[in-house]
Amino acid sequence: MQFVHLSVEIQPHHFARLPCRHFLFVLIVALCSAAHTFAQAQHENIAMDKCLQSLVRSYPEVLASATRDSLYWKNGVVMPLGTMTIPQQKHLLTTSEWETILDGASLRDQLAECYPVGDSIKAPSRNSDPGRVRYEPFFRQMYGATEEAVRQRLVPVRWLAHLPEAEKILMVTSVNGVNEKLQAVSDELEQLPPEYRQYLVKPGGTFKWRTIAGTVRQSNHSFAAAIDIDVPLSNYWRNDMTKEDRFSYKNRIPLPIVRIFEKHGFIWGGRWYHYDTMHFEYRPELLTSECGCGGRP
Ligand SMILES: [Zn+2]
Repeated sequence: MQFVHLSVEIQPHHFARLPCRHFLFVLIVALCSAAHTFAQAQHENIAMDKCLQSLVRSYPEVLASATRDSLYWKNGVVMPLGTMTIPQQKHLLTTSEWETILDGASLRDQLAECYPVGDSIKAPSRNSDPGRVRYEPFFRQMYGATEEAVRQRLVPVRWLAHLPEAEKILMVTSVNGVNEKLQAVSDELEQLPPEYRQYLVKPGGTFKWRTIAGTVRQSNHSFAAAIDIDVPLSNYWRNDMTKEDRFSYKNRIPLPIVRIFEKHGFIWGGRWYHYDTMHFEYRPELLTSECGCGGRP
């Protein structure tokens, strides 16, 4: 009986039909995959368009409009968005490979990653650095291309003005009203319970024309739109690295401090895989629903 059964299984006409079925199956899978990829790309394009419009709305003083390919400034400058250079599999890159991509990031890259604003602090996934990807010409155009140009727009902020033991004058840019935003942050931080003051009373600094440690890229402090709070109670990935690419997320900055900064348009370096928990910088576009993780694929 066993022999008879086998002879049925290998009838010649089955040889002819099997490859055909196999081909159809492969074709259907390929079509479904292509349709999914197309839909995904469309979804990402729409999300990028919305984020771009949000970028324009976030800097009404200097930005006029945007198309899918260019950003138009009110002073007549047209800035290309460039191509996306961040690979989909960026989590497979070493820090060194990732840094090379950041060195040549386009404006499109700058908007590619959503910022995870929210009422929790989580260790970011590998190479997730939303806001750390910057197209430097954008910031030079926005705040000043040279140290002197940035310096001309500096104005004072009275940091923790109502706490006599902490009051300090910090110099930040007046472009985009960053000084007013930081003053609002300071006024609100003062209302926190006394145990939070240790993170705030000795800020590390605001304006300094310099490159980011270990890179050729200009720090956002160069543009006077960033602040470092207390350095000794902060963590920085380079300082925690035991050997090449070996470090793990650490943070001591309490969430209520982070949320006050975020409320006024400042993103936090503690939400980066390459964390810098003392660092906040003015990037209001990343805190909108269009560029935040809630509205992105
Ligand atoms: Zn900083």
